[in-house]
Amino acid sequence: MSQLSRIQKICDANGISGFEDEVVLAIRQEAGELGHFAEDSLRNLYLYRTENTENKPVVLLDAHTDEVGFMVKCIRDDGMLEFIPIGGWVSSNVPAHLVRVQTNLGKTIPGIVGSKPPHYQSESERKSAPDIASMYIDIGARSVEEALSMGVDIASPIIPDAVCIYNENNNLLFGKAFDCRLGCTTIIDVLEDLKGEQLQVNLVAGFASQEEVGCRGAQLTARKVKPDVAICFEGSPADDTFLPPYQQQTIVGKGPMLRFIDSKMITNPRFQQFALDIAKEFDIPVQKGVRNGGATNASALHLSEQGIPTIVIGIPVRYAHTHWGVSSLDDVQNSVRLGRAILTRLNEQIIATF
Ligand SMILES: [Zn+2]
Repeated sequence: MSQLSRIQKICDANGISGFEDEVVLAIRQEAGELGHFAEDSLRNLYLYRTENTENKPVVLLDAHTDEVGFMVKCIRDDGMLEFIPIGGWVSSNVPAHLVRVQTNLGKTIPGIVGSKPPHYQSESERKSAPDIASMYIDIGARSVEEALSMGVDIASPIIPDAVCIYNENNNLLFGKAFDCRLGCTTIIDVLEDLKGEQLQVNLVAGFASQEEVGCRGAQLTARKVKPDVAICFEGSPADDTFLPPYQQQTIVGKGPMLRFIDSKMITNPRFQQFALDIAKEFDIPVQKGVRNGGATNASALHLSEQGIPTIVIGIPVRYAHTHWGVSSLDDVQNSVRLGRAILTRLNEQIIATF
């Protein structure tokens, strides 16, 4: 399967935090030739590379499978669904969008986040930011009974509806869940590129659940895999549409972003420098970032066990945590190249210097 169709399949899959089953299935289908799988009760998916042998340092390749979305909180008498956000949303990005409501009949049905037309809004309503607690989703049901008969109930997962589109003229991808499904596809691409190659390290991919609600899955993957080092592949929010050029550090199309710091981790400076040196040697474009907000699974990984040196390879995503993101296929490909180059060079001696 081509890289693009892999991206489309995995990004389009439904999987809010805690309900990542479809994503896990898609990854199993895409990566089945590359090793053997294991799973735990949080739906973390582990992929152990076929070529692994005993007594080598272990590298954990991390990406998270979940996406931001919503969950039905209760059903109004008129059949409208009230909901809570899953993961971080800005409330003004929510109304008037199409969503998929996952039913207990094993499928999804369309719904619209209802909003009052401007004709009926008061002056103050037009000016104020809406509040998610007062929003509702319209699936066309006219009563609680009708909603229930459609397979919808409280706790039904709700997924932003967007389908991945590729513009071959500028190599841009438009779609949902690039944070962090592009990380998932990058790991599969790296493992595919390395197929049959002997390395000085063993590779375990940890496709982690529930990152968007506080990096929960990665707390288990670190404990299970007990890696010597970890590389976190992420969809990182781009800053190139609202910051002045001199402040921009995560520009779409300019290569993966390696962060020195964010709100929950100071990146191991030795591992970070090793990765930046490799990027230079292999002529792979990268961007360096100093962030005071945001966090990734690396926040959990680097403090696990006896401390695990961890870097983050971030693929820029414009408009993260909305229905539609914009990313560059070039950035995905350069992330694959960088991941591959790092893994062909890592060995016990180098890891000991971290
Ligand atoms: Zn993410």
